[in-house]
Amino acid sequence: MPTYVIEHMEDDNPDTSFPHWIALEYAQMIKWAGEGNTVIFSSLSPTSVKSLSEQLVARGAQEGSFRAETRSVRELMKQEGVPLEKVCLLDPRAEKEIAPEDGKEYDWFLFGGILGDDPPRDRTGILRRDGYSGRHLGPVQMTTDTALGVTSLIVSPPHKTLSTITFVDHPTIRFDEHEGVEMPFRYIVDEKSGEPVLPQGMREHLKADMDRGLDDF
Ligand code: SAH
Repeated sequence: MPTYVIEHMEDDNPDTSFPHWIALEYAQMIKWAGEGNTVIFSSLSPTSVKSLSEQLVARGAQEGSFRAETRSVRELMKQEGVPLEKVCLLDPRAEKEIAPEDGKEYDWFLFGGILGDDPPRDRTGILRRDGYSGRHLGPVQMTTDTALGVTSLIVSPPHKTLSTITFVDHPTIRFDEHEGVEMPFRYIVDEKSGEPVLPQGMREHLKADMDRGLDDF
């Protein structure tokens, strides 16, 4: 069973609660990781550990489905005896594409807890310096939750490959017939609905963000 680690890299203001947008993405990662798995969120401030945990439990995350840690991924590896060669960094700039057999080769799959920027600023490069083996998920930037979902579909059952997963790039998330917002990322397409898979609550969050933005004019 692969372990998924998300090294939180967004600035962590100890005075405010954990940003709602990121909590939605982190809750979605727990869903993608599947029953019986524990997703580790590392390098969080003590305030964020409390605030994120409360938000995740409020959104239905079961006990044991996640660990919110102040320790960094490097500290956790040392303390839990996970050697560098057993950790795979999901890295847009990696040479090799992720493949099902990576599920046997690696125990931990590491992601940058970064809200994607457009164009990407290669903040994943900060993790790359630690010397992990890297694997890419294709040429288009994904949100971290989508990246974990794709990785999970490939390294654990049903052991898909990038070419057998249906994606949509830069979809417009529609709020009604007039309003929508284009998201500069690649998403997994839900086979039943044909819609991009978004974290639960994200559509409402995006609409509220847009309405707030409109009020600013
Ligand atoms: N804008 C950031 C990336 C944000 S995406 C940057 O430039 O680095 C957040 C995380 O999801 C990345 O750190 C990486 O772990 C993963 N990810 C997103 N898209 C990916 C891709 N195409 N290939 C590999 N990993 C990806």
